[in-house]
Amino acid sequence: MLDYRFLFRKIRKIVIPKSIILLYHRVANIESDPQLLAVSKTNFEVQMQYLKQNYKILSLSELVNFLRNNRVPRHRVVITFDDGYADNLYNAKPILEKFEIPADVFIVAGMIDKNREYWWDDLERIFLLGKKLPETLELEINKKNYLWNSRNSGEYKKVYQELQYLLRFLSANDLEEKIKEILKWANLPLEGRETYRCLTSEEIRKLVRSNLIDIGAHSMGHLVLSSQSLEQQKWEIENSKQILENILGRKIFSFSYPFGTSTDFTSETENLVQEAGFKSGVADIQTNVRSPFNLYALPRRIIRNWNLSKFKENIEKYFNGKSVNIIS
Ligand SMILES: [Zn+2]
Repeated sequence: MLDYRFLFRKIRKIVIPKSIILLYHRVANIESDPQLLAVSKTNFEVQMQYLKQNYKILSLSELVNFLRNNRVPRHRVVITFDDGYADNLYNAKPILEKFEIPADVFIVAGMIDKNREYWWDDLERIFLLGKKLPETLELEINKKNYLWNSRNSGEYKKVYQELQYLLRFLSANDLEEKIKEILKWANLPLEGRETYRCLTSEEIRKLVRSNLIDIGAHSMGHLVLSSQSLEQQKWEIENSKQILENILGRKIFSFSYPFGTSTDFTSETENLVQEAGFKSGVADIQTNVRSPFNLYALPRRIIRNWNLSKFKENIEKYFNGKSVNIIS
């Protein structure tokens, strides 16, 4: 006779969702947000309050310690932010402190102390803010020639969407060259908007001051690592660690893969992250943390600008392993 209790326990262990790592980017009230990166301050506050009242919240390193001992804790939540926008300090930190919630912020080291925006934000200010542009755009990207019409908002949107995709596979130098070329074509300055800038080194030090926030690395240039040579990937990974360690005077233990879907990094990338001395790697893979897990490809659940009822509904869906609409 089968031991059903044993079988049941085994199945439970495999299928029942355990902890979740949440992925945020910005906490800001911004008018245009085509990448859906921002959660308003009001929504972030009710989201944090709800989590504090209903779940145990761990820092990423606390979760990783459990995992290293081969234990997946149940119903725990970890909060992470990617990209290191300055609003993490000014808007997110006060709310995290109010509820005493730990969080991890992953910073793109190449953006620190630069008066620039991320290239996807540059594309937004070029194409989506109603600026009048020249009627055609000709570009060579990865040895292929492209020609777009740019005469009305429909066409602006099309160019924006196609460039959003195409530029992420370039090398850092090619990307910089292309963005400069497009900004020049649009007659816009290289300097970015204040509301879209990233944390400075001084601000990163302020962010960790209360000991609630931990810093992780998110590469040098936010490129798709799997499309770079191994040598380039190594540089992106190791340098971002070194720069952040120099700023903070302490070790950095976690890495977040840029873009982070399963095609944006490979097992070789994971090895490089491990060899660089990181203890974990987090991805943008929409599942829960459960056995068996990979410490160098921990999944994260994306959070959008949801009000309390939507947030509650979606957090419950996440814990129940159901899918959530994350494109609105
Ligand atoms: Zn990112």
